[in-house]
Amino acid sequence: MIDQELLEILACPVCKTGITYDEANQKLICSQCGRKYPVRDGIPVMLEEEAERD
Ligand SMILES: [Zn+2]
Repeated sequence: MIDQELLEILACPVCKTGITYDEANQKLICSQCGRKYPVRDGIPVMLEEEAERD
């Protein structure tokens, strides 16, 4: 579970766009570039090199 306030300040490091939380998959998704950032132990990993791309 990720804090709503934390979600609001997080942004994609690539396009600086706000992200949405995919709770089912524990991913943070950038609506701009589609990168998916992992959440490890409840901590968002907002690193370009850790992101998945479709
Ligand atoms: Zn992005």
